[in-house]
Amino acid sequence: AKEDGRNAIRFFNPAMQAVVDAHTRMEIGLRAALDNGGFHLLYQPQVDRQGRPAGAEALIRWSGPDGTTISPAEFIPLAEDTGLIVQIGQWVLDTACAQLARWQQSAATRHLSIAVNVSARQFRQADFVSLVRSAIERAGADPSRLKLELTESAILDDLDQSVTRMNQLRKLGIQFALDDFGTGYSSLSYLKRLPFAQLKIDRSFIHDMAEDEGSEAIVIAILSMSHALSLEVVAEGVETPIQREFLRLRGCELFQGYLFGKPLPIEEWQDFLAM
Ligand code: C2E
Ligand code: CA
Ligand code: CA
Ligand code: CA
Repeated sequence: AKEDGRNAIRFFNPAMQAVVDAHTRMEIGLRAALDNGGFHLLYQPQVDRQGRPAGAEALIRWSGPDGTTISPAEFIPLAEDTGLIVQIGQWVLDTACAQLARWQQSAATRHLSIAVNVSARQFRQADFVSLVRSAIERAGADPSRLKLELTESAILDDLDQSVTRMNQLRKLGIQFALDDFGTGYSSLSYLKRLPFAQLKIDRSFIHDMAEDEGSEAIVIAILSMSHALSLEVVAEGVETPIQREFLRLRGCELFQGYLFGKPLPIEEWQDFLAM
C-alpha cells in the first residue's frame, strides 16, 4: 500500500492536488449557489438594423461568497464536467421564461425575445423537450419569443436525435440560434437539415475583421450563405460603428455587442428601452 502511495504521489503531484482542491471548492460553491440563489442573469440587448431593441441574450453570473462576480467562462466548463450544468441550465431556463412572461405583460416590451444558452449536456438529456415545455408552462411565457442557442458540438454528436428534438420544440413555437458559428466544425451540410432560424457569427471574427482580410472574407461568406439558407444572422461582439456599418451593408439582421449595450441587470432595462 505504501508503494502504491508513493506511486500515486509521483503521478499526482501537489500542483495537480491544488487544481483538484480548487475544483472541489468550486463544485461545492456551485451546489450552494443553486440552493441559496447565488446565480443571477444579465440581459444583453440585441438590436435590429434600425438600432431598435429586438430582444436580449440571457447570460449567467455567479455571485461568489466574497461578493465578487464570477464569469461563466470560469465555471460553465466545470459545471459541464460535473453534470451540475443540468440543474443550472434548468434554473436559467425558468428564470428567463419568468422574465419573458413579465415582458409579455406590457405593450412596450411584448415584442422582445429572450435567447437562452443551452449546453451540450443539457440538450442531450433524454427529457429535454418536456423540461423546456414545462418551464414555459410554469412561467406562462409565449414560446415564440423564446430562443435557444445551441453550439455545433451540442448538435453534431447525434445529428438525427438533434433534428428530432429541435423539431419537437419548433412545434411549440420555440426558435433556435446556432451559436459561435465559425469556431467549430462548421460543416455546412448539416445546416439545412436543422430547423435553425438564426446563426450567430462568433465575436472573434467580428473583432478581427478590421485587421484581417481572412476574417472579413469569412464574415461575408457566412452572411451570404446564411441568407441563401434563409437564416437570419446575429453578429456578436459588435463594438464599433465601422463594424456595424460593414455588417449592415451586407444585410446582417441583428446586432449584439458593447456598441449597443453590455449585459444589463434587468432593473436597467427600463432605462435602456427609454433611451
Ligand atoms: P456566448 O454565448 O458567446 O456569449 C457572448 C459573450 O460575449 C458574453 O460573455 C458577452 O458578455 C460577451 N460579449 C458580448 N458583447 C461583447 C462585446 O462587444 N465585446 C466583448 N469583448 N464581449 C462581448 P459572458 O457573459 O462572459 O459569457 C461567456 C460564455 O459563457 C457565453 O458565450 C456562453 O457560452 C456561456 N454562458 C453564459 N451564460 C450561460 C448560460 O446561462 N448557460 C450556458 N450553458 N452557458 C452560458
Ligand atoms: Ca450565446
Ligand atoms: Ca456566442
Ligand atoms: Ca462566442
